[in-house]
Amino acid sequence: YFITIEGPEGSGKTTVIKAITEQLQKHKVVVTTREPGGIKISEDIRTILLDEANAMDYRTEALLFAASRRQHLVEKVLPALKRGEIVICDRFIDSSLAYQGYARGIGMDEIRAINEFAIEGKYPDLTLYLKVSAHTGLQRIKDNSRETNRLDKEAISFHESVVAGYDKLAQAFPERIKVVDAEQSVDKVVEESMKWINQLLN
Ligand code: C5P
Ligand code: MG
Repeated sequence: YFITIEGPEGSGKTTVIKAITEQLQKHKVVVTTREPGGIKISEDIRTILLDEANAMDYRTEALLFAASRRQHLVEKVLPALKRGEIVICDRFIDSSLAYQGYARGIGMDEIRAINEFAIEGKYPDLTLYLKVSAHTGLQRIKDNSRETNRLDKEAISFHESVVAGYDKLAQAFPERIKVVDAEQSVDKVVEESMKWINQLLN
């Protein structure tokens, strides 16, 4: 099964992924990975994408995310799925739809088109959307003094648009995308996430 974890900055994706991976690993083989990244080529693309010194055109950025996604899918995700393993991926196509499509304003249809080229129909079996407000998410990152410089480049309204983009996706694809209230405690978020994952696996 292919499971993706989505959400805005500070939604707790990394923490939740660590906890659910530990639980699932007791009984299953789990591959935990992330986007953009997860393999050499895609981590190299990530470095270019996240370099603050690069003033990158938004469509170039969207194409690089899609390129990184494709290589990671082909090289790491698909082989693991073929071996019958569970793949848990920190971000996937919905990140591009929410960030580049909606928040950057390129348009979700255009971003979907280049990403469908990249993924050839390989949508996740389950996507957990860890929903937090832009305010809560950014506050958590400040409290951990992580990545504040890079994130401060964007206005709060950008992060609010990311959340609005995810909300639209969750409404449009309720079968695949499950909303988990990530304003709750980590334990609660993990428990609800496991509930959806167990529903998929059973
Ligand atoms: O998931 P993580 O926080 O490590 O992602 C790195 C950064 O890349 C995010 O903070 C986000 O701002 C950015 N990103 C993006 N568009 C995507 C995926 C991630 O702008 N499609
Ligand atoms: Mg993270």
